[in-house]
Amino acid sequence: MILLDRVTKTYGKDKKSALNRVSLHVAPNEFVIIVGTSGAGKSTLLKLLTREEKPTSGKIVVGGIDYDTLHDKFIPLLRRKIGVVFQDFKLLPQRTVYENIAFALEIAGMTNHEIKSTVPKVVELVGLVGKENKFPHQLSGGERQRVAIARAVVRQPKILIADEPTGNLDPKHSWDIVRLLEKINKYGTTVLLTTHNAEIVNKLKRRVITIEHGKVVSDQAQGSYRQ
Ligand code: ADP
Repeated sequence: MILLDRVTKTYGKDKKSALNRVSLHVAPNEFVIIVGTSGAGKSTLLKLLTREEKPTSGKIVVGGIDYDTLHDKFIPLLRRKIGVVFQDFKLLPQRTVYENIAFALEIAGMTNHEIKSTVPKVVELVGLVGKENKFPHQLSGGERQRVAIARAVVRQPKILIADEPTGNLDPKHSWDIVRLLEKINKYGTTVLLTTHNAEIVNKLKRRVITIEHGKVVSDQAQGSYRQ
């Protein structure tokens, strides 16, 4: 599903690499946690996957798409395969829950009819039935993150990238979000989760990839958080 072969990323004229010859493979349906201190290179790795950044050298293949031969006009197609959620939700404040989710389908060119049948299913999946007409400011942090997740998965991406999704949430809401990510993973989406939350990492017992100074320093099947 995701393959990186000796990927290096150096920003600008900086000699120091944000990522330094990183190789890794993530199989379809895996749930992978990526940890590492601030500045380790996690965001750079995720930006390379979404093609926000291009590697300085090395090979990236995602869902059968070889980034070396990926023309810019196919980037929207690639992004349809990859849903992304962030720590700060990035919802549209003037739009309701329903409209925030529907927007992702509108820009993909779906008909109103398709939108009306698709949005309720994903609202149900993320547990927001009854909140469709609320605006983001009327929701708790955990609920806002559910909307962001709904929007990220509504087009049924193959991969869901969750970049510190619990960073703004209290422990209870954090666990609700992690359980939701597990549910989405169970339905067949590969999940990449970055987090600084040691308790979540240690309790989940999932594959943990630790990045430090731009290198993968450990990759454990049922990993734990290394400080
Ligand atoms: P993390 O997400 O683990 O905190 P990042 O990938 O954001 O790490 O950063 C890795 C390194 O790359 C850091 O030294 C950071 O300062 C540098 N870096 C990240 N983005 C840029 C950028 N756009 N321009 C220059 N340097 C950057």
